[in-house]
Amino acid sequence: MRIAILPGDGIGPEIMAQAVKVLRRLALPVEMHEAPVGGAGYVAAGDPLPAKTLALAREADAVLFGAVGDPRYDKLERAKRPEQAILGLRKALGLFANLRPARVHPELAAASALKSEVVAGLDILIVRELTGDIYFGEPKGIRQSAGEREGYDTMRYRESEIKRIARVAFDAARKRGKRVCSVDKANVLETSQLWRDVVSAEGAKYPDVELTHMYVDNCAMQLVRNPKQFDVIVTGNLFGDILSDEASMLTGSIGMLPSAALDEAGKGLYEPIHGSAPDIAGRGVANPLATILSAAMMLGYSLNQAQAASRIEAAVSRVLRDGLRTADIHTAGARKVGTEEMGDAVVANL
Ligand code: NAD
Repeated sequence: MRIAILPGDGIGPEIMAQAVKVLRRLALPVEMHEAPVGGAGYVAAGDPLPAKTLALAREADAVLFGAVGDPRYDKLERAKRPEQAILGLRKALGLFANLRPARVHPELAAASALKSEVVAGLDILIVRELTGDIYFGEPKGIRQSAGEREGYDTMRYRESEIKRIARVAFDAARKRGKRVCSVDKANVLETSQLWRDVVSAEGAKYPDVELTHMYVDNCAMQLVRNPKQFDVIVTGNLFGDILSDEASMLTGSIGMLPSAALDEAGKGLYEPIHGSAPDIAGRGVANPLATILSAAMMLGYSLNQAQAASRIEAAVSRVLRDGLRTADIHTAGARKVGTEEMGDAVVANL
């Protein structure tokens, strides 16, 4: 198994080093190859996604990504900015399914803005379509109309696009709580009506998975009212963009959350949901757990190593139970540790 390791900028290299340490400790037959991306790619090769980095990502069985972005490069033309690397990788690798788990370890429930009893033990997965919808639908633009400017975008989904994302959700549900809630706005939007019809037809092929439908406005409300009612939520690009950020905030800790973007063959790019955190970069205080948990997701979803993935997740739970906390999740009475020490503790608990 070949893994492309792309640490990126800011805290990227610090947190990635911890995930690599964890992967090494598992002693699996994996080869890891590292390459620069984002601002680091621009410095190395004048491009946020250098050709060599892209080639490595294409050849690899999975990509583990840190974070990109650095204020030093904010004034560059858009094509050279670090964030373009993510868009480029998604496009080149055909990554159409975004998987965002939101899990609240019981020990961290107090970090949520919601009451502990509402979120303690929360474990949901949002599956968001990444390459279609109103973000990419044509025509779009700003035109002159009746003497004033008018902006317009086109919400559009093809049947095949809905089918493949629905399958990702149903397959994921089979490995979890066996329930899928499909979220749309079928009471108003034609695109959503097609979405609902296609998801229902696909769902009939998964008799062991319970399928329900919910309007997006209700879902936004239910996520803060009673988030534990959900297992897997599947939705389009626009609704998923908003709902996945809402769901991540239920956990109250950006440094804990992994994510995946998958192609049709199950190859994926795995990354923490947070950015490069330039405000704390280089200080050895960043939380590496989101990246370590991203490595666990990678083992489970792309490398067929479910057992190794569970071992990492269990080790992370034990470290939290032992009271170790990086600064972002620290509360009174817990032991504050740095990035390196947190990584070492996970390794020791494997
Ligand atoms: P951010 O996620 O980098 O940081 C937001 C806040 O959370 C900061 O206070 C930061 O210190 C904290 N934080 C983030 N990750 C943490 C961790 N692991 N441990 C402890 N604290 C953590 O978001 P931002 O500040 O809006 O963006 C910074 C840069 O990252 C920008 O250049 C942005 O474009 C980029 N970005 C990249 C990605 C990505 O690579 N996928 C995602 C989001 C933002």
